[in-house]
Amino acid sequence: MKQYLKNTWEALWTILIGMKITWQHLFVPAVTIQYPDEHRHIPDRARNRLYVNIDDCIGCMQCERACPVSCIHIETVKSVPTDELGLTSKGTKKALWVTKFEIDFAKCMYCQLCVFPCPSECITMTKAYEFSEQYREDLVYNFSNLSITDIAQKQINYDKFLAEKLTLAKAKEEAAAKAKAESENQVNNLTSNEENNK
Ligand code: SF4
Ligand code: SF4
Repeated sequence: MKQYLKNTWEALWTILIGMKITWQHLFVPAVTIQYPDEHRHIPDRARNRLYVNIDDCIGCMQCERACPVSCIHIETVKSVPTDELGLTSKGTKKALWVTKFEIDFAKCMYCQLCVFPCPSECITMTKAYEFSEQYREDLVYNFSNLSITDIAQKQINYDKFLAEKLTLAKAKEEAAAKAKAESENQVNNLTSNEENNK
């Protein structure tokens, strides 16, 4: 009988201990959130997905060179004098068309090393961290706003400008050579006339 009562007491005591812990947790604030309906606060200096304000980009490629994993790919085409590229918001004159500005977020390690050297401060970290994709190719973001037709046209314009410049330079060179030859002929003629008159 004595053993029976002892066992009963131990069982009750164990239940009371368990219930004490349960009751304590009833008054602890919840640590889970109802994601995705609720989001945690993202600190201002958090490093997440990059964003490029392409209107301010001058195509200097400093970000591309700074990236330790080579996940930024930029291509540019030089503008021609008739192009109106305008200025960046910092007042820098733009001289290049940024025809390709890709960042492969499957490779990016969010180190932010590309952000610091940018003279236009147009590549920045955002608070966006939800951008999973089914296919890796979809993680390559292109920030250039030029269409394939636009890019082809810019290249044609620059090639034409370059060809005209080369033709002009060649014509100038030929004119200078011709003028030089004529002047040499005149000198030779004068010299031979002087020799004939002696
Ligand atoms: S955050 Fe780092 S890894 Fe990502 S693109 Fe910039 S430099 Fe490259
Ligand atoms: S460093 Fe800045 S301005 Fe230069 S290419 Fe990169 S984003 Fe554009």
